[in-house]
Amino acid sequence: MNEPTAIKPVILVIDDEPDNFDVVEAMLTGQGYILHYVASGQAALDCLDTLQPDLLLLDVMMPGIDGIEVCRQIKALPQWRGVGIIMVTALSSKQELSQCLAVGANDFISKPINQVELVARVRSLLRIHQQYQQLADFNTQLEALVQQRTAQLRALIDEDALTQLPSRTRLLQAISLALQSAEACREKIQVSPKGLPSSVGLAYLDCDQFQLVNGAFGYAVGNELLKAIAQRLQQLLRPGDVLARVGGDEFCFLLHYLDYPATLESWNQAIFESFAKPFRVANCDFFVSVCIGVALADATTTQPEALLQAADTAMYRAKRQGKGSYQVFDAQLTTATQRRLALETDLQRALEHREFITYYQPIVRLATCQVVGFEALIRWQHPERQLVSPAEFIPCMEETGLVVPVGLVVLQQACEQLKIWQQQGAADWTVSVNLSVRQFDSPTLLADIDQVLATTGINPVYLKLEVTESALMQDTESAIAVMEQLRSRQIQISLDDFGTGYSSLGYLHRLPIDTLKIDRSFVQQIHTGNRNHQVINTIIALSSQLSLPVIAEGIETSEQLHCLQSLGCEFGQGYLFGKPQPASEIFL
Ligand code: C2E
Ligand code: MG
Ligand code: MG
Repeated sequence: MNEPTAIKPVILVIDDEPDNFDVVEAMLTGQGYILHYVASGQAALDCLDTLQPDLLLLDVMMPGIDGIEVCRQIKALPQWRGVGIIMVTALSSKQELSQCLAVGANDFISKPINQVELVARVRSLLRIHQQYQQLADFNTQLEALVQQRTAQLRALIDEDALTQLPSRTRLLQAISLALQSAEACREKIQVSPKGLPSSVGLAYLDCDQFQLVNGAFGYAVGNELLKAIAQRLQQLLRPGDVLARVGGDEFCFLLHYLDYPATLESWNQAIFESFAKPFRVANCDFFVSVCIGVALADATTTQPEALLQAADTAMYRAKRQGKGSYQVFDAQLTTATQRRLALETDLQRALEHREFITYYQPIVRLATCQVVGFEALIRWQHPERQLVSPAEFIPCMEETGLVVPVGLVVLQQACEQLKIWQQQGAADWTVSVNLSVRQFDSPTLLADIDQVLATTGINPVYLKLEVTESALMQDTESAIAVMEQLRSRQIQISLDDFGTGYSSLGYLHRLPIDTLKIDRSFVQQIHTGNRNHQVINTIIALSSQLSLPVIAEGIETSEQLHCLQSLGCEFGQGYLFGKPQPASEIFL
């Protein structure tokens, strides 16, 4: 292997007397330097870039430009500022030496030259020059690195790293340009803005329940699925339009030349159809649906953020209509959304301030009117309002997912209360807790319940969980699996509000449930011989074949009670026996 050859330092000697160069050359022979000679200051300035010296030995007294002026000029050049210059002079007045230093000379040596001194000074200055060079190289590298990193960061701001689609920032820039050109176009045509069909629109897409994919399959699969979705959406890009990823599972299309409703309708149609086919990721087929919110720019739209916000609001509204929905923004949406957002924040605060409390409504054995247990019902102790009923806030909590932590609070409170009642002697009372769809889907449901059972130490036989048909219908197979898990812990399950949902008596036998709760809408209009009477009769008959006890909800009058008793309904709940009330008002 060849040793890398060390680069020899280059020394340029500038002296009008060639003999002086001969002396220097003789003294430095064998030191490993390359020596060059020029006879004038001007020649030195001319050959610097060609010779690339590391050190200059510069005579002070020269005809033409003298050494001091040459030194000044060289040090004024940025690329040569670092070169070492040793002034060689016969004179040694203090004034002359300080002049040399003032123009930037690094050192000086007096004539006649002493060899030991020359060798030492040359060596030390070359070493300093070498260090200076290393520092300069290091600086250059650092600067390049900073520039590269800055470019990467700028790309990150402009581009979504996962899908390589434009980011929110780039989208906003594109909207801004589109709004400007729409404005210019309007000025040119000079017609009333309201008379023109909108030419710029923004469609905001949000995948439905994407968090379930992340929850069940992990983020790696979730990311692959997002990439696949981005690719499919890209195929729907029309020339000139922009597709951006603006959030986790949120995408935006900036649509040009959009006449409403004709083009928009067919465009929407194409988007929904593109989601009809599953996405193949990690050897699984994923069916994904989206909600779309569209905002159309008009002459009053000047801020890109405003258009984005409007599309987001419309999308939010579409979400509330259910999976695969679509909404076009109108100004009224804003107030509804603002009210809704305020409720969301309020609920979040309520959770933090422990404003949710649990009320209990008795469930009785109809034959004897004896209490057998209680249903736990949430109430919101709002600091400025009266007690708020769940109908007002449960749907919002469902959508935001807040129902999961809040539901857990109710479960915890109810189990703690049951423990107290049991210690007071009500050994057989059960407590029923409502489980929302969202809780039912929650990946932490079983662990959360186990935790509550462990901390309260109650016997799970006395805990009932109420689920509605809609919770079971979304994905019946996995719902059944969760229910079986619950029952393996000896927890009982009630099917709540029976009759209001899909209400198929046919599938009842397939469901691992322990009790059926007939919705109060049937009970409240029950009269002997009428249709509700017959329906309840059928439900009770079938349930008894399946050995499923029935609880009738919403019993308010003794007539309703007698009717249900005569039909053989085993249990009941309603204002006739007691309204929901705080535990402090319930006595054994
Ligand atoms: P639900 O589970 O069907 O609860 C029964 C509802 O009927 C309760 O309303 C109760 O107060 C009401 N009710 C009981 N007897 C009568 C009666 O004789 N007449 C009338 N008119 N109403 C009666 P509430 O407490 O307003 O709860 C409404 C719904 O909110 C519940 O319906 C349940 O679906 C939900 N909910 C309540 N608490 C929770 C909770 O902790 N978690 C979840 N996920 N949902 C809850
Ligand atoms: Mg219930
Ligand atoms: Mg109910």
